[in-house]
Amino acid sequence: MQDKYEIVIGLETHAQLQTQSKIFAPDSAAFGAAPNEQVSYITLGHPGTLPVINEQAIAYAVRMGLAVNCHINQLNFFDRKNYFYADLPKGYQVTQDAQPICVKGHLDIDVNGTEQGVNKRIRINRIHLEEDAGKSTHDQDAKYSLIDLNRAGVPLIEIVTEPDFRSSDEVIAYVAKIRQMVQYLGVCDGNMQEGSLRCDANVSLRLKGATKLGQRTEIKNMNSLRNLKRAIDYEVKRQAKLLDAGETITMQTRGFDEEKGTTFALRSKEMAHDYRYFPEPDLQPITISDAYIAEVKANMPALAETLIQKYTQTYGLSAYDAKVITDSQKFALYYEAILEHTQLYKAAANWMTGPVKSYLNQEEGRNINHFPIAAKQMAALIQLVDSGKVNFSLAAQKLFPVLLTKPKESPEKLAQNLNLITHADDAVISQLIEEVLAQNPDKVKAYKNGKKGLAGFFMGQIMRLSKTKPDPKLTNKLLQEKLNQ
Ligand code: ADP
Ligand code: MG
Repeated sequence: MQDKYEIVIGLETHAQLQTQSKIFAPDSAAFGAAPNEQVSYITLGHPGTLPVINEQAIAYAVRMGLAVNCHINQLNFFDRKNYFYADLPKGYQVTQDAQPICVKGHLDIDVNGTEQGVNKRIRINRIHLEEDAGKSTHDQDAKYSLIDLNRAGVPLIEIVTEPDFRSSDEVIAYVAKIRQMVQYLGVCDGNMQEGSLRCDANVSLRLKGATKLGQRTEIKNMNSLRNLKRAIDYEVKRQAKLLDAGETITMQTRGFDEEKGTTFALRSKEMAHDYRYFPEPDLQPITISDAYIAEVKANMPALAETLIQKYTQTYGLSAYDAKVITDSQKFALYYEAILEHTQLYKAAANWMTGPVKSYLNQEEGRNINHFPIAAKQMAALIQLVDSGKVNFSLAAQKLFPVLLTKPKESPEKLAQNLNLITHADDAVISQLIEEVLAQNPDKVKAYKNGKKGLAGFFMGQIMRLSKTKPDPKLTNKLLQEKLNQ
């Protein structure tokens, strides 16, 4: 299969915008309320009601468009997409068909986390604004389907790519990046489980070397990156088998069965003309001025890429550490909060990627918001280690766990109580150094003649001889002084 067919995938990603109210009505857009509590007459499309556009939704769409290098269409209007379904109270969805708010962008993705950065460019065809539909539940009641209209009218952007993906891994890298971006931009919480970020994958195969696109199916409703990958991988195999048997692919909308790991036919794919699109007559066209775009640009939060650049170039972190720290915006902001109290950038990074991260990883769903130690206290801990009073491994293994339970106490006091303070006054260490140097006169000579690597040997000997826990930093400093006398 790998040699015979080329996989072609295009993605449609819906992101719920984090606005207070809905896109055309004042009802709350918050997730989690009891069913049908957040439904106004406007959302229901009662006669005599009129929609009013939520300006914040426009600002968010422009923000996302700029982040993925799109051109912003300055003339905007909405269209009605007509279809009948119980969770669509008006009988049509207000969307943008003819003139989407953002067009022709691109996003560079990093497949399999390679460190070189840019790896593949995915072209964005368009981003348009639309309203979400309600939610139907079919498995809660034996006789009835249940409808919750709280979600009806929640603002969405739909981000549509060109059919540029050639593997499920590329798709995963893209969606992970989009999720990170919407979170950094503050336009969407990116929660796939709750459905704030949803993807439809259009999948087709063609013979290697063919230029014409193959017939596609569209898979809907994958609620995690893992399931998105499973669904695509299954669908690719299914299509390959059909093609191998000389059959054709039916253009279809398919669902994903999480339990079985298979896709199944939902309905035959509807075409644009089935929807009878026409311009929404109840909303005025919207013009977006250059000044407005400039304002959105000026208020854009920094993206992970910008932070990575700052951390590697200004703070001297490794690309790997910078990437780990910026993985989530909250984690990066905590790192920056530590840096308000200390300039030990690298030491702070080591604490973030080491002890702090492993603490968070101990429990599913634990994130930096649940971290009990204030940034200022972390800075105090980092400085304590830097001063040489406690060495790093003792601080990480013994002091840090205690500080987690008593986050308000001074790290230094705790270290004293726990008897972790390095009891090596300079005299004791100096004594040891002298002993070791006296035992190895030829090595000292070699060192002075340029074999600087021997410093490591001396350090090893000193550490071996010592019974206390001399701070390596202090010891090294004293050793250097002796050697360079
Ligand atoms: P629709 O809205 O009817 O699903 P679009 O033309 O807007 O159709 O395309 C939706 C998505 O499907 C886009 O991401 C596009 O790149 C992708 N796509 C279109 N044709 C194919 C194909 N043959 N194989 C894979 N993806 C495709
Ligand atoms: Mg589609």
